[in-house]
Amino acid sequence: MEVLEWRIISVLTVNDLCKRFTLPGGRVFDALANVSLEVKEGQFFTLLGPSGCGKTTMLRSMAGLETPDSGCISINNETVFNSANSTFVAANRRKIGMVFQSYAIWPHMNVFENVAFPLRVSQQRYSEQEVRRRVREALATIRMEEFETRQATRLSGGQQQRLAMARALVMNPRLLLLDEPLSNLDALLREAMRLELARLQKQHGITTIYVTHDQSEALALSDQIAVMNGGKIVQVGSPERIFDAPKSAFVADFIGSTNILQGTLLGKSDGRSTISWNGASLQSCMPTELSQGSQVAMSVRPASIRISEKQAPALNSVAGLVKQKSFQGTSIDYVIDVAGFDIRATGPAQTAFGIGENVTLHFRPEAIPLFDPAKDRAVAAHV
Ligand code: ATP
Repeated sequence: MEVLEWRIISVLTVNDLCKRFTLPGGRVFDALANVSLEVKEGQFFTLLGPSGCGKTTMLRSMAGLETPDSGCISINNETVFNSANSTFVAANRRKIGMVFQSYAIWPHMNVFENVAFPLRVSQQRYSEQEVRRRVREALATIRMEEFETRQATRLSGGQQQRLAMARALVMNPRLLLLDEPLSNLDALLREAMRLELARLQKQHGITTIYVTHDQSEALALSDQIAVMNGGKIVQVGSPERIFDAPKSAFVADFIGSTNILQGTLLGKSDGRSTISWNGASLQSCMPTELSQGSQVAMSVRPASIRISEKQAPALNSVAGLVKQKSFQGTSIDYVIDVAGFDIRATGPAQTAFGIGENVTLHFRPEAIPLFDPAKDRAVAAHV
């Protein structure tokens, strides 16, 4: 029991963090507005959101590279920032490893010296023997032992990325901060490095905060995802939870392709809501606090729609006309015109429908989350 309690300690807590920038002309901008979060030991925690939502400001504040205006940050129960009593622990004393988009590798040094660099400039003195031991261990971790003497500039993009990782790991940090570390890599290498990153993180159990605007990267890597928008965290949860039960149309739209349909809530009974949309009657068994007669937004993912040949009208099905199709290998992505609305739907490659064909779309009631459109102005009424 004691062991279990020890294993779920928080490595990072952030409370009510605010950061305001003054723009040219004197206009102020809230990059972080009362952000709070908690990251547990060993977690891979991702900050995900559109460009400009405050992810990097958040990460830089954790690292000690940005001074927030107010709030509190603690790492391993040590307060590293607290506006209330002016606590600010310098970046090099926070015991954090960092990898940024630009790896900032020293071009005039070889691989060994690049990894050794943090040890050599550290306040703590390391013997040459200890430096060698730690560098070799870090290089082994990223499977680059044989590159020790290679000049850093003569490495491929993926190798430079791994080198940056080794340099971040060499100090045995208690927290690893990664700011879009894969964004400079081509698609193939990115995929390979994503797997490598997942392996490293799980093997070493190192608590990691990862910043990305790439939702597929976030879904693939994370234990927990915090979705950010406009300087705020709008939802925190496991990838599955965020994907299946988004709290807002913004999250549903951002975390994977979806159709946002706006209708009117006709009634609720037996845990099911009936919504009138575009002349059709749709049922959802996802919860909503909205009352009868309210405007309601529905999220219907393309992959949750079943497409069939034209059938007689029925509950949760609508008639449509295939407008566009694009072959994806094992599946086909369609754009289907439903009385003037473009609905994206994905069907298996084995049963293809032709452009101009009349079809019926079937919506699964358990796959239609409902939202209050008034709280989701960022999301368009339909695709
Ligand atoms: P991206 O994915 O594009 O890197 P982000 O989510 O990381 O974006 P931040 O870099 O944290 O966003 O920036 C948040 C907002 O704060 C942006 O609108 C940005 O323009 C603004 N900002 C960041 N740094 C400064 C600064 N030093 N002065 C003024 N505004 C800034």
